[in-house]
Amino acid sequence: MRFAIIDAHAHCGTQDIDPGQTIEDYYAAVQGSDILGVVMFPPVMGIYDRYDPDFEDTPEWQMRRQRANDYVLTLEGWGLIVFPFFFIWNDFTVAQLSDRHRGIKWHRHEGEPPYDYQDPRCKAAIDEIRRRNMPICFEEEWHHTLHFINELAPDLKIIIPHCGLLNGGFERFCRAGIWERPNIFTDTALAPPQAITEYVRNYGHTRIMFGSDFPFGDPVQECQKILKLELSEAEQEALLMGNVQALLANANRPFKNAPLPKV
Ligand SMILES: [Zn+2]
Repeated sequence: MRFAIIDAHAHCGTQDIDPGQTIEDYYAAVQGSDILGVVMFPPVMGIYDRYDPDFEDTPEWQMRRQRANDYVLTLEGWGLIVFPFFFIWNDFTVAQLSDRHRGIKWHRHEGEPPYDYQDPRCKAAIDEIRRRNMPICFEEEWHHTLHFINELAPDLKIIIPHCGLLNGGFERFCRAGIWERPNIFTDTALAPPQAITEYVRNYGHTRIMFGSDFPFGDPVQECQKILKLELSEAEQEALLMGNVQALLANANRPFKNAPLPKV
């Protein structure tokens, strides 16, 4: 391998210990491999209780969220280049965004506490994310995904993770013509090799990025999965490093004179 590999989808935190997902755990998983860069999301359980549909927010959870989002900013010194993503929840606290966050994680599954898309703070958050030119890794139910990418944020850069597997399915995005859109990206985390191959064949190799979904996926094995596909060297390099690097190059680097959002 003649280039450093970047894992575009990993979870990292200290508050969810089952399975363990601290920076020490990640480092142990990739040590000795060519994976030298990683996009880190706080774990879901640092943000809200996904097992409680009647979840109510508390000051304790607010503190837990802040700790989870701060932790990914502290991961230097492991010989890894870390791209921290801010996990936004239903309180839409973009005021906590640091200039060092490089993207947004937006995540919910069926039965989990919902985002209130009607809340004016939701629109304000999207405006701030736009101002900062940050991509959003967006995992939600199918109808919410459609509403978000069509109505709420049609101009933002959106990463649909897992080749769409957990947003309603890969094929659904194919049929709806969504992968063709220039602002829609995806990652390969835990996606079957056939879906990745089909994606590259039909939609090209410039908006799809290698991701592991650590600690649920093994970064080295997920990387091997990409290397085993029938891809040209240029395509391999794009998936394993170049695409995520290009996507994040100007993320959270707003133009100096950009107007401040009205909140
Ligand atoms: Zn994940």
